[in-house]
Amino acid sequence: MYIDFHCHLADEQYREQEIQEIIDTCQKENIIICSMSTDLNDFKKNLEYTKYNNVLIGFGIHPYEAHKINKNYEKIEETLKKYKDKISFLGEVGLDFYKMEETKKEQIEIFEYFVNLSCEYDLPLSIHTRGAEREVSEILTKYQKQKKIKAIFHCFTSTDKIIVNTILENDWYFEFGGVITFKKSNELRNILKYIYEAKGKILCETDSPYITPEPYRGQKNYPYYVKIVYDFIANFLNDRSFIKQLPIEIYERY
Ligand SMILES: [Zn+2]
Repeated sequence: MYIDFHCHLADEQYREQEIQEIIDTCQKENIIICSMSTDLNDFKKNLEYTKYNNVLIGFGIHPYEAHKINKNYEKIEETLKKYKDKISFLGEVGLDFYKMEETKKEQIEIFEYFVNLSCEYDLPLSIHTRGAEREVSEILTKYQKQKKIKAIFHCFTSTDKIIVNTILENDWYFEFGGVITFKKSNELRNILKYIYEAKGKILCETDSPYITPEPYRGQKNYPYYVKIVYDFIANFLNDRSFIKQLPIEIYERY
């Protein structure tokens, strides 16, 4: 069984018909799809896919959307409460100071809010972070003092050893996708090896329809390409059992 721990079925790049085909293909190939939400609208779309037994969904506000929330936290918690039995992750959430420096304040506020919800509802966080790895780990570490947080660093591309060691020490998850297959990712592959040798927790994802792995780089990405990512990592590490522990009880549903 393969699990794509982070993708976007509700993304507008996929037509309705295409989504159905993706779900069917994944069912045939024994692949579980974890589809993230970037705002309340695509969460609504994702909700419909929970009728398929190989689709799990995330509930979150992407850092690019943070400034559009206008402190409307009530609506967020109300939605979470109402659909909590259908939600497996809080995601996609996080901080992006690389692309959206100007909304830093709003991003931090909403991210902290979701970290709080993660403690309260005991849900893993699927985290996007770019140019803000230190800030993300600082916030997580702060909350981790109250309760053990299940944090997944989605699309992990940092080669900063301080960040890597912090994630290792806190027993959080490193999640790798298409980037690990790119020719120029030698430094990242060294980090992957380092994490593996340190017995860190490693997960695979596609982030589809974005960041397509080789040899399809440049084309549209699909959740079933997670097999490419998984096989690539397994070959690189010479170990097919590198995914040691899963953050959610998925087996009972599948
Ligand atoms: Zn994503």
